[in-house]
Amino acid sequence: MNYSWQQTQWQNVQLQQQTGKLPHALLLVGAEGLGKLDFAVDLAHSLLCQNKSADGSACGVCSSCQLLDAETHPDMFIVQAEDKGKAIKVDDIRQLSASFSLTSQFGGYKVVIIVDAHDMNINASNSLLKTLEEPVSDSILILVSSNPQKLPITVRSRCQLIHFNVPEQQQAIQWLEQQGVDKSGELLNLAHGAPLLAMQLKETELLDNHNLLIQSLLSVAANQPVVEHAEQLHKLPLSYMLNWLYDWIQDLLKLHQCGEQADLVHESCRSELAKLVDRSSIKSLYEYLDLLIKQKQLQSIPLNTQLLWEDLLLSWHKQLKRV
Ligand SMILES: [Zn+2]
Repeated sequence: MNYSWQQTQWQNVQLQQQTGKLPHALLLVGAEGLGKLDFAVDLAHSLLCQNKSADGSACGVCSSCQLLDAETHPDMFIVQAEDKGKAIKVDDIRQLSASFSLTSQFGGYKVVIIVDAHDMNINASNSLLKTLEEPVSDSILILVSSNPQKLPITVRSRCQLIHFNVPEQQQAIQWLEQQGVDKSGELLNLAHGAPLLAMQLKETELLDNHNLLIQSLLSVAANQPVVEHAEQLHKLPLSYMLNWLYDWIQDLLKLHQCGEQADLVHESCRSELAKLVDRSSIKSLYEYLDLLIKQKQLQSIPLNTQLLWEDLLLSWHKQLKRV
């Protein structure tokens, strides 16, 4: 069953389906960690189940549901890049278009989910466009993307957008606590309110990575050389690290502007941050943010991350007043 913060979206698509108004293509958009892919899978199951319940959820026991659970349902296709961050290629899309043109084996819908649809390369997008322009009856395409601006507008405009937003903090905390996660408020801060990302932080080494970043920033602020810290940091997942560094600088700016009232992402480092505020100026922090934004934009281009971290840590040190 889908998450408590997805009920409105769920009821809307169910209503559309019941009234025969479900479009051929849906584009699920929103930040990472909100469960968009789970929603897509639940919806696919709901569309293919032969005995779904009144709220639209799949029964889990009919022959269709059993095939879905075994991932062998002939009318359900999932397309995704070979590895996360790699491109979805034109052959993958051609294959799905070919399957789409066949009659449904169960006499119902045919459903395709495209995971991280923004990873389609240009040829793949063009190939998908043909499928979008000539929809086959009873076929539903569900595109999932946390970065929809990377999709060509021609693709986006042919899909009905379904937006997923960060839930109310209380709702997210309640859900995390139900999953047995303690210190959920702190994790949620680091995940910008996305419950599944907070969960992932808890379950993977991401939280350790975060601690390494903070330790490096504090050590460099205490005049330790940058090289060995850069050596550690460059092996860690860059997008998370840059986002957290960005949040770190934002936290300093918030402390400058709002003092103790400031709402911080790195709440657990409040006292360390408070000491650093006196050593940095608003102007230099904004300059540092500019530098970071440029690096975030360059991320898809292969670069020497060791040098990047040396540069980021040196600039971090340079903008601080000596103590
Ligand atoms: Zn079923």
